Amino acid sequence: MSESPIAQQHARTPRPGDLTDRLVATDVWTDQMLAEAGIPVVDVPFVTFGGGIGSFVTVDYLRISGVPTSAIRVLTPLRTPWESYEYLTTVSQIPRSERLRSDSQSRPDNIWGFPSYAIAEGPKQWWNVFLEPIFTRYYTPRAGHAFTAMEREMHRIRYPEMVVPGQVRMVRRRAGGGYFTILTPPEGAAPTRRIAYRSQWVHVAVGYPGLKFLPDLQRYRQRYDDFARVVNAYEPHEHVYERLHRRPGTVLVRGGGIVASRVLQRLIDDRDQRGLQTQVVHLFRTYVAGAHGPSVFSRRPGADGWAYQGFNYPKSVWGGQLKQRMRRTSGEERARLYKEMGGTNTPLRDDWLEQLARGRREGWYRVVIGQIEDMRPVGDLVEVAAGTDQGPQLGTFDAVIDCTGLEADIREHRVLADLLDHSGAGRNPVGRLDVGTDFELLGTRNGGKIYASGSATLGGPFPGVDTFFGLQIAAQEIADDLARQGFVQRLGPGRSTSQWWKWVRNTQI
Ligand SMILES: Cc1cc2nc3c(=O)[nH]c(=O)nc-3n(C[C@H](O)[C@H](O)[C@H](O)COP(=O)(O)OP(=O)(O)OC[C@H]3O[C@@H](n4cnc5c(N)ncnc54)[C@H](O)[C@@H]3O)c2cc1C
Repeated sequence: MSESPIAQQHARTPRPGDLTDRLVATDVWTDQMLAEAGIPVVDVPFVTFGGGIGSFVTVDYLRISGVPTSAIRVLTPLRTPWESYEYLTTVSQIPRSERLRSDSQSRPDNIWGFPSYAIAEGPKQWWNVFLEPIFTRYYTPRAGHAFTAMEREMHRIRYPEMVVPGQVRMVRRRAGGGYFTILTPPEGAAPTRRIAYRSQWVHVAVGYPGLKFLPDLQRYRQRYDDFARVVNAYEPHEHVYERLHRRPGTVLVRGGGIVASRVLQRLIDDRDQRGLQTQVVHLFRTYVAGAHGPSVFSRRPGADGWAYQGFNYPKSVWGGQLKQRMRRTSGEERARLYKEMGGTNTPLRDDWLEQLARGRREGWYRVVIGQIEDMRPVGDLVEVAAGTDQGPQLGTFDAVIDCTGLEADIREHRVLADLLDHSGAGRNPVGRLDVGTDFELLGTRNGGKIYASGSATLGGPFPGVDTFFGLQIAAQEIADDLARQGFVQRLGPGRSTSQWWKWVRNTQI
């Protein structure tokens, strides 16, 4: 049905506070242009948007360095900084009681990393960190511990006072210096549809640009409109486990990373604890049979299909030779080093090894090497055709759990695409946002700076940007750079020590 002429006219007439065509098409905006569009302007020196862990650790650093709450605004749809992270860990089978994948000192609630999570957890864990990794496996904190600690810090630094709810639509340079960050507040929360934040500094911390599914999964969904039997592990899929509880079934798990490990653990825990008879077929695209790597100095252990690595990044990126090497390289050489470091892997954990060994022995866990070629629903089940090292195979499953979770291109994120198209931002050698050593978004300088941290900046001079510790290093570099521009005092030893004591005593600042 076509729209009535009145509705069409209504759609074309911008309301006060709407983005006008002129604004959308213009790279550098004047104050006058916003006034004409009826978009109210709020002045604040520093804006961070995203509002997840990346924004939180940056604000934490600035607050501890002495920046007042009035000088910072956090533009975000999230209620707490860990909301989005907790959603992803929960659906991918890391509930609060399970352990994360970063080390004891990577604490988003504590810029000093001391006392570490292990010290806080008790004497048994002190020994663990002392003896690892030779005599014990690496210690990693429980998810719940990280969240409760962040909650305490959030109130201590008066984070909620700085939060403005809403979604950021774009950031544009301002004629005369600085930037406009356009916020869309929740429906009915503000008198106008958009608000512009005029600031000298902007920090972009939007997390993952989006989730990209493998083509076979997308094809299946488009063709059969079935979102229940073929799922991605980053989507809510509790119904799969519940169905297996109601009746015995066979599941195909695809992937060789930590998410596949956790999904397998959940399936096997359910077998053990709920007495289920679930059969598991595990599809590896690349099967790792033993230690592997480009040289004897950078090898990863591996076995039974998996590549093993304690943390989400090799530890040497935090300060060893690898860090130095990365800082010195650029272009294709950097892209090559990233490729060498990359590759799917999972931590070595005794409970997983025991479960899978038992499954292999008892015949309810089988490994196949290959790739899915086609999927189609057959009655209640899904028929999967796969090309494998044993030739073409056909099997039927109650569910397919895809644990490959590829990240979408940065262009999939509207704000990042806008930064590329209108604000001078460019791509680094691996195709993400190009940042310098102080996390400035190169090419966007305008009498102020735009900074970016997190996954969107992977491929820069500092690896490991999408980790708690990496986000904190970015925060520190950004704070130092802001100190050079006079926005904040550099955090020297005296202030750092007195602030640490305040942290210990949970004194609000
Ligand atoms: C399952 C999983 C487990 C992980 N485990 C670990 C671990 O154990 N240790 C570790 O160090 N790292 C881990 N990471 C990596 C990383 O530390 C986390 O993903 C962390 O949450 C990244 O923080 P962030 O601020 O970049 O993104 P997020 O915390 O996701 O926050 C970014 C937020 O920005 C918001 N946003 C997006 N667009 C806009 C917009 N236009 N306007 C306003 N807001 C917007 C979104 O709501 C988004 O949630 C893990 C990641 C995943 C997915």
